[in-house]
Amino acid sequence: MFNKILIANRGEIAVRVIKTCRRLGIATVVVYSDADADSLAVEMADEAVHIGASPAAQSYLVADKIIAACKQTGAQAVHPGFGFLSEKAEFAQRCADEGIVFIGPNPGAISAMGDKIESKKFAAAAGVSCVPGHIGEIADVAEAIKISEEIGYPVMIKASAGGGGKGIRVAWSRKDVEEGFPAVRAEAAGAFGDDRIFIEKFIESPRHIEIQVLGDKHGHVVHLFERECSIQRRNQKVIEEAPSPLLDPETRAAMGAQAVALAKAVNYDSAGTVEFVAGQDKSFYFLEMNTRLQVEHPVTELITGLDLVEQMIRSAAGEPLSFGQDDLSINGWAIESRIYAEDPYRKFLPSIGRLVRYAPPEEGEKAGYAVRNDAGVREGDEISMYYDPMISKLCTWAPTRSEAVAGMARALEDFHIEGLGHNVPFLAAVMDQDRFVSGKLATSYIKDEFPDGFAGTEPTAFQADLLTAVGCAMQRLQAQRLGRARADWTVVIGHGKQRVHLSGEGQSLSVELLDAGRTLNLADIAWRPGLPTFRGVLDGQAFTAEVAPAPEGFTIRHRAAKARVLVLTARSAELHDKLPAKAPADTSKLVLSPMPGLVVSMDVAIGQQVREGEVVCVLEAMKMQNILRAERDAVVKTVNAKPGDPVAADQVLVEFD
Ligand code: ADP
Ligand code: ADP
Ligand code: MG
Repeated sequence: MFNKILIANRGEIAVRVIKTCRRLGIATVVVYSDADADSLAVEMADEAVHIGASPAAQSYLVADKIIAACKQTGAQAVHPGFGFLSEKAEFAQRCADEGIVFIGPNPGAISAMGDKIESKKFAAAAGVSCVPGHIGEIADVAEAIKISEEIGYPVMIKASAGGGGKGIRVAWSRKDVEEGFPAVRAEAAGAFGDDRIFIEKFIESPRHIEIQVLGDKHGHVVHLFERECSIQRRNQKVIEEAPSPLLDPETRAAMGAQAVALAKAVNYDSAGTVEFVAGQDKSFYFLEMNTRLQVEHPVTELITGLDLVEQMIRSAAGEPLSFGQDDLSINGWAIESRIYAEDPYRKFLPSIGRLVRYAPPEEGEKAGYAVRNDAGVREGDEISMYYDPMISKLCTWAPTRSEAVAGMARALEDFHIEGLGHNVPFLAAVMDQDRFVSGKLATSYIKDEFPDGFAGTEPTAFQADLLTAVGCAMQRLQAQRLGRARADWTVVIGHGKQRVHLSGEGQSLSVELLDAGRTLNLADIAWRPGLPTFRGVLDGQAFTAEVAPAPEGFTIRHRAAKARVLVLTARSAELHDKLPAKAPADTSKLVLSPMPGLVVSMDVAIGQQVREGEVVCVLEAMKMQNILRAERDAVVKTVNAKPGDPVAADQVLVEFD
């Protein structure tokens, strides 16, 4: 076994690997860029080596610097995490040449499987069922069109080196291919330094189901069942679970057998994942193999009781697997929600900044479920524009799927983040949807269920009561402090208005709804003025709400339902009715920057006539390009940014006449 391992990665996965190393008594070294000098991973590792500037191309992607750091610290092995160098066969080979053990598969397996074009050729030869398409490199737009027309629209244009949902685009027509082919190629060249493109049939509304495999250097390969990752946005996974609600034991065994056969065919000797798209009829087609640890590996750990990082380390050290396929079974159900620094209320655009407050739910056993939160950040840390926008991975485990979903909904209530936009309310909305609860998933789920984006959800009957009760409890506490406690109030939420009578003391409050003729009972109140979360039990149901002061009242959010709640005297409520509603500012003539980022191109000039849908400019942040288009026909009046300019959210980029 190794004495010291270097982790060639950052963020939550670096922290994740350190935790296992500590448990196994192995010393750790992390490498870090300028942006990560004060990171949690650096704090937790036994040693840390600075390897360069913040852009990954100058730090985490530079093999020479990683190798030098191993030599400098005497690390015997490198864990690459995911992303960065994890799927670069040359890096694995380079480690071997330098006498450093690469904690991952052998270089031959990486090059056979780590590239989408090569892996498809390989899988087809091994008898694995593949997505129909053109398995080969495509030279130019003309060839791309010809092939797309042979396959038949819709098709998917993919970067052979792609990953993380980047370098992928669906084309429904010839025009889409003309626009998409160069765009994917440019994105691939920029993101992966490799612009090879291929095209395959786009399978509409499939499910994404993948098999975790594990091999050793002695020819053994097992599978650790499946994960379903159908809840995706822009082909990037958002919510994953294990097992899949779709599969029956026979299909599970068939997919597992194909995955193991493919892995054995390339002498696979570490943890890896064979991804499939599956039809609702349980047909399945091979997509790609990820020759590394997967972001969503925790759900597999939660249902199998295995530590995949430990297994990778043991295999890399030459130990044979200590169990066979028959020793493995599925225990319960696990769900993972990726907490992203992106603002769901603003078309999910990346939202960088400081985690002014970062308060995740407590990990461990809860009433009926268990919580695990894999994070690489602490309160006060910055989510920078250089890397992925992931803040943490929140997982829940329970004996059944419905309990795991309910547990996730509760855990999300207890996740409190301030300082930047984040997707917690969005994730909460999904957990509350009947379709999600019933397990009818598809990769089109988010598009189907949120066709106009996300704007929060209408309060349910319980949530309407919760908003009222919490608003009253907050008002009562504040009024008591000011010596103005009173029993009778009028609660205003949106256009709704109700008279209430409050009673009770200490941590309990009864809210008599005078118009409706019923009473809400709020118990175990845990809040004091200034706190951002309000915990309590309403009519027997425990909850956590996010609260903040707002003009004349409070903003209260429970899961995805958010409202301004005013608790007023009868007289103030009457006056409130007479206030004129404020008209929202007219921004129809402006093109605003939807996120902080960098201007990649400015495609219009003053005086130019643009048509609806025409590209105005392109922005970039967090490895993501955002094309801003004209929302109507117009003439350009002013242009306020040029390529290379950094811009803030809501900055006016272009003004129309
Ligand atoms: P998973 O299936 O494990 O989610 P993804 O394909 O989403 O895998 O990628 C895993 C992580 O690695 C993501 O955070 C992604 O952004 C990142 N990633 C993937 N490929 C690359 C790459 N070539 N360079 C840098 N980061 C990458
Ligand atoms: P990445 O390397 O970025 O993970 P994948 O090839 O695994 O790329 O594709 C990412 C996601 O895009 C899949 O999970 C699936 O939802 C969708 N996808 C990929 N290929 C197809 C296809 N041919 N038809 C339909 N959906 C697809
Ligand atoms: Mg994939």
